[in-house]
Amino acid sequence: MKKKALLLIILAAIVAAYFLRPGSGPGLEGLRQHIAHLDGWRAMHPMLFIALFLLGYVVVVALSLPFALWMTLAAGALFGLASGVVIASFASSIGATLAFLASRWVLRDWVLSRFGNRLKPLSDGLARDGSAYLFTLRLIPVVPFFLVNLLMGLTTMSGLRFYVVSQLGMLPATLVYVNAGTQLAQLSSVKGLVSPPLILSFALLGLFPWLAKAVVSFLRRRRVYSRWTRPARFDRNLIVIGGGAAGLVSAYIASATKAKVTLIEAHKMGGDCLNYGCVPSKALIRSAKLAQQIRHADRYGLTNSEPEFSFRMIFERIKQIITAIEPHDSVERYEGLGVEVLQGYARIVDPWTVETTLPSGQKSTLSTRSIIVATGAAPFVPDLPGLDESGYLTSDTMWQAFSERDTAPKRLVILGGGPIGCELSQSFARLGSDVTLIEMAPRLLAKEDAEVADFASQCLKSDGVHILTGHRALSCGSDAGQKWIEVEAGEQTLRVPYDDIIVAVGRAARLGGFGLEDLGIPTGRVVETNEYLETIYPNIFAAGDVAGPYQLTHAGAHQAWFASVNALFGTFKRFKADYRALPWVTYLDPEIARVGLSEAEAKAKDIAYEVTRYDLDDLDRAIADSETHGFVKVLTPPGKDRILGVVIVGAHAGDLLAEFVLAMKHGLGLGKILSTVHSYPTMAEANNYAAGNWRKAHVNTRLLKLVERFHAWRRG
Ligand SMILES: Cc1cc2nc3c(=O)[nH]c(=O)nc-3n(C[C@H](O)[C@H](O)[C@H](O)COP(=O)(O)OP(=O)(O)OC[C@H]3O[C@@H](n4cnc5c(N)ncnc54)[C@H](O)[C@@H]3O)c2cc1C
Repeated sequence: MKKKALLLIILAAIVAAYFLRPGSGPGLEGLRQHIAHLDGWRAMHPMLFIALFLLGYVVVVALSLPFALWMTLAAGALFGLASGVVIASFASSIGATLAFLASRWVLRDWVLSRFGNRLKPLSDGLARDGSAYLFTLRLIPVVPFFLVNLLMGLTTMSGLRFYVVSQLGMLPATLVYVNAGTQLAQLSSVKGLVSPPLILSFALLGLFPWLAKAVVSFLRRRRVYSRWTRPARFDRNLIVIGGGAAGLVSAYIASATKAKVTLIEAHKMGGDCLNYGCVPSKALIRSAKLAQQIRHADRYGLTNSEPEFSFRMIFERIKQIITAIEPHDSVERYEGLGVEVLQGYARIVDPWTVETTLPSGQKSTLSTRSIIVATGAAPFVPDLPGLDESGYLTSDTMWQAFSERDTAPKRLVILGGGPIGCELSQSFARLGSDVTLIEMAPRLLAKEDAEVADFASQCLKSDGVHILTGHRALSCGSDAGQKWIEVEAGEQTLRVPYDDIIVAVGRAARLGGFGLEDLGIPTGRVVETNEYLETIYPNIFAAGDVAGPYQLTHAGAHQAWFASVNALFGTFKRFKADYRALPWVTYLDPEIARVGLSEAEAKAKDIAYEVTRYDLDDLDRAIADSETHGFVKVLTPPGKDRILGVVIVGAHAGDLLAEFVLAMKHGLGLGKILSTVHSYPTMAEANNYAAGNWRKAHVNTRLLKLVERFHAWRRG
């Protein structure tokens, strides 16, 4: 209410000022007369006069009235050059800051809720370079002064920064106008005050921060390269280290664009996803799901029975599936595409040289214009007393270890309640293991909303998984051949006995041993890169799990496009990696699929939203398939159909999500999903119904009443 009142006052003042103005101000003659009028009064009350002038000037600027130029000229005429500049400079900066704050208070929430994520690149750019932009805008008068105040109010720039940069940036023009004001009597027009040469010098001054930035960045680049000698020519355009999702896609793009590229893989082509991650885990999940369906066959009108299977055969099937997919990522395929593949361990010797230790022990050294580091991540193993001695499995080792067994582990502990820990817990429970899932955080799937995490917990519990959330692992050990892990929750400690333990507490980027340290490339949890995926060496890039922040196959492949295009063509144009519509799926049964904001994230970022929901127990296909568990939840700005985020829980949620990912990526709202024909009966209709629920909640009731009357009238 208060905001609306302020907005109305400002608008009324601006409109009044425009209506009352003769021309766009008093004109030079009018100004001379006003000043002559005020002269006597100024002599009698000099201090009060200055205070009132300053206040008037501040109000004019704060309300964005079109008299600021005349006030600046008047400041020169009334107070002379030095005092005029001081008064005009402070008054215009204070007024501008008030306009900036008013715009922030009145308009910012609305703009954020309306444009949300679409403004992110702009606001990120402003957060980084805002002062330079503002300084330039102040100096080069291409954007009207009042508009700069209002627009900057919509950004995250602090009021103090805005004030200081504005005052500095406006100083040269203030000087010119105040100086002109001191010559008011001789002035015949305001037009020539800012002549083309003067505008040019302002423009040069406005470019100063950018030139300074470019020089600093050039010097920084020179400094990182200073201790190395750049080869005169290069053997390759690009060398990619690592043959997982990120490395394969990088090499593919390079060869497709006719670059000379070498891909170096130390171990297995296809990396973690094919050999230890997505592929085997999804194959395991499928077998486990079938076992569970047999166990609960009565849901489908069949007779329940205990599934009979060989554990060894399940892992044999997993091996076969890897073998069937392997050709997609094989050396032969990539060589056929024009990529040179080296099997060996790569080390970056200098910013342009990579040395590979081949299986024979021989070394191959190649020079290259650019390098992409795509070395992935490995399971993180916590420093838990007794863990090494007791023995443990990880996603790297479990596939081989279990493939040599006839039966599932009897008592299995899984450490870590993230997506991998949850997926494995459900699968092994369904294959007959007595699974205990231990998670330190108060709930599973920390990245998801509490409602979704609770849903996952319920599903796991119904499959017989014992869930110990809020339990911290302390140590492992064994008594009389009986292995245990000790956990604590608050004051209480507990020993959980087990036969096998799988450590799934996260994955640590592979950062060491291949030259990053020697080159001084900064690393934290991942290789530090900028938005272009460049390290501190602009010709060395990183992509995939080693670069983070998402440890997903499709995220690595997505980054690979940016890394390779920037590496090969960055001299002409560089692209910033864009994660705005990046989906992820937890392959529990039912699946959990997410894109964009969750409710918790929207609240944390103070983004206004409304929730539209559709429960799958209403969907014909879900009922026919006895897969009614789950829902579609869509976040939109209040009153708008633009999609801020979606979570789908249910059978095939990962596949259903694709429609929303496409919609978010291309700015399509729920209205467009509603107007798209979906086949009957499919699970995908759930998206259509969710969009329909949004529409029902936003029907125009007045219009409907009118239509009702129209029908009544037609009936006579
Ligand atoms: C159990 C499990 C399930 C998963 N499920 C999914 C899923 O369903 N969906 C999903 O999107 N993601 C999933 N992931 C994650 C996914 O596997 C990874 O995000 C993906 O493999 C990362 O690809 P990458 O190319 O960054 O690294 P990697 O696949 O790890 O490839 C890096 C490669 O670099 C090689 N290398 C390292 N150093 C050198 C060197 N110095 N010289 C030469 N070669 C080197 C390594 O040998 C490795 O092959 C899962 C992971 C696990 C563990």
